[in-house]
Amino acid sequence: MRYVWATGTHQGRIRERNEDSVFPETSGAGDGPFLAGVADGMGGHVAGNIASALALTMATEEPADAGIDVADRVLAANQAIRDRVSDEPNLAGMGTTMTLGLFSEDGSATIGHVGDSRCYLLRDGNLERVTSDHTVVAELVELGHISDEDAEFHPQRHLLTRSLGLGPVKVDTEWLDLEAGDRLLFCSDGLTSMLNDREIKAILDSGSDLEATVWMLIEAANAAGGIDNITVAIVDAGP
Ligand code: MN
Repeated sequence: MRYVWATGTHQGRIRERNEDSVFPETSGAGDGPFLAGVADGMGGHVAGNIASALALTMATEEPADAGIDVADRVLAANQAIRDRVSDEPNLAGMGTTMTLGLFSEDGSATIGHVGDSRCYLLRDGNLERVTSDHTVVAELVELGHISDEDAEFHPQRHLLTRSLGLGPVKVDTEWLDLEAGDRLLFCSDGLTSMLNDREIKAILDSGSDLEATVWMLIEAANAAGGIDNITVAIVDAGP
């Protein structure tokens, strides 16, 4: 399978720094295997950025063809943050989300996921969520206690039930059999808290150049308020 990817990250309009990280940091193309993902760090002062950057560095340290599955990569990131905190106790409490894709030569992809960053699949004009958010509110929706509409404005919608760096963690993995023409989006909640799925779909499916599409999403999130750091990675699967 041929893959083409583009990524971007932006501080947004309110936050004093960008605690998100993205991998790879530059656009490219290849036949796979390759890795792409986003991480959204948390934990005061510089710790959030350290956590997200360290997590993606560790998860992608071994090359994509090393035979390491995506869940083990996410777990390695979790351990790396915990080790860093035991060396530097002033960083205690730092953590990060991670949504990481491992794309194979044969056109399959596995997505490892912890937290409220997301992976979406655009196929034949339909946008579907590949990952489920690990938030209190998403779990309430799943249990049928509140509606999707209530969730959108719930005061605790950012409260995570899982993140990397704070202890042992369960990694969700999703497997995808990609088709030529599929487009995958990885993004932090700075995008999805500003734009709904319909708005995201309209931009993703606008037929614009890949790199331009990344920045159209980021600009739209900023135009809608830009209250958080915004990070986007798009991967196109082609013939
Ligand atoms: Mn965020």
